[in-house]
Amino acid sequence: MSKAFKVPRNREEIMAWIDSIPLYKGDQPLDLAFKSKEEIRSAQDANLVAQMERLENQSPFYREKFKEWGVDPKSIRSVDDLEKIPVTSKADYMKDRGESFKLDMDFAKIMDYILYEITYTTGTTTGLPSRFYNTTYDMFLQTWMFRIGCKITYLEPDDILMNLFPFHFIPHIGYYKTVHFASAVGMTMCWGFTGAPLPGFPYSIHRSMQQAIEDIEKKKVNALSGIASYIRRLIMTAEEQGRDLSRINKIQALGEAVPKGMRDDMRKRLQKMGAGEVFISNAFGFTEGQTAFQECAELGGAHCGVPQMYYFEAVDEKGKRKPDGEPGLLCITHLDRRGTCLLRYLVGDIVAISNEPCPICGRNDQRIVTTVGSTYGTRTSELMKVKGTLINPETMRDAVANTPGVIEYQFIVTKEKADDPYSMDLLLLKVGADEGVDKARLEGELKEKVKRAVELTPKVEFVPFAEIFNPGQTLKATRIVDQRPKE
Ligand SMILES: [Zn+2]
Repeated sequence: MSKAFKVPRNREEIMAWIDSIPLYKGDQPLDLAFKSKEEIRSAQDANLVAQMERLENQSPFYREKFKEWGVDPKSIRSVDDLEKIPVTSKADYMKDRGESFKLDMDFAKIMDYILYEITYTTGTTTGLPSRFYNTTYDMFLQTWMFRIGCKITYLEPDDILMNLFPFHFIPHIGYYKTVHFASAVGMTMCWGFTGAPLPGFPYSIHRSMQQAIEDIEKKKVNALSGIASYIRRLIMTAEEQGRDLSRINKIQALGEAVPKGMRDDMRKRLQKMGAGEVFISNAFGFTEGQTAFQECAELGGAHCGVPQMYYFEAVDEKGKRKPDGEPGLLCITHLDRRGTCLLRYLVGDIVAISNEPCPICGRNDQRIVTTVGSTYGTRTSELMKVKGTLINPETMRDAVANTPGVIEYQFIVTKEKADDPYSMDLLLLKVGADEGVDKARLEGELKEKVKRAVELTPKVEFVPFAEIFNPGQTLKATRIVDQRPKE
């Protein structure tokens, strides 16, 4: 039996937990997030000055842009000066699939020219993923970042973790960064090694969800890391089979927003299988950040963790900074990188930033805090017009995901008359419900909740949940589908 895990809930309990783990206790003197605001700021400013010099001399994209913008990189002395620099868009980055953002190599410095790893961005509009390069220096620094990240989210060197990210034909950060964060603290890791077959590849290499479930039992796994809806489906399948998942006490449910209701649902199912406390982190990750920024409390905010490496801003379209807590476009600046380097880069999410000390753990680093419902970023591209109303799908998703009895759901925006592209928009909500639930009541509740969230009443349709999400076919559940004819 693994020891029961008690989630630390305040500064005192967190410090006691850190003190109980020699690796984390030993790291404390160098853990910048626990230093004062002034110390953090001076480390950020010093790193930014050095980073600007690298961009001026070695970045094909930015050295041209500085001339075009009339910005003297040497005039940028502090993170407050960043507002003088125009933002970089995803379109800029994707134009040559990220190549011009990789620094020219400095052959005098071995840590700077060894290309150690390339990961690729997901979901590009062009269909071609962009490359993101890490040199030796970047990889070593990331190892430090992962140690700090594990400490924020209560992963321990003695944990036994299963990497449930798919082994995909495009190397994404999910699978690979899980390997690195486990190795960074010396954690034991095993693999689900799931994934879709590669067309034309002659051998069957992937493993199944069933094999993953069996290994979780057999190898005494207590922590899971993977795409949230996949982990949830795995838990549901294990529950149906009467499996023993009582050891599971930590979950990295990543890759998509995980509202409170979804976390409670996963926890409840695990507890039916004998689990005790379960900490479910929905760390906020993206390729350009090379990590998932961790929560110290569920929905407590995504901690930067390593403020010497990143500076976060929430900005308007022109790059003007928003005050603390106000929603804006997430804009990140790499303060200490050698491979792919981004300056004031718009990630594509709407978030709010807090520069206040964390009320739970007391760390002084920046946090991305919840803005809509109980989920972090809203993808900017997802704002959509239905029946002439601009809606934020995040609020709509949040309303349904937090409803007891809903197992899977999917919104479909379509037309009232399939053969008439000019007929009214129709918002259809497909629901895979718990057996035994009062469907008429659930339908009424869902209509009411969605109407309150986005001022539109959906048509509710109950379907088998495999119709909505089949883990054997897709990476994650698609929550909103727009089937209207393109204009
Ligand atoms: Zn915290």
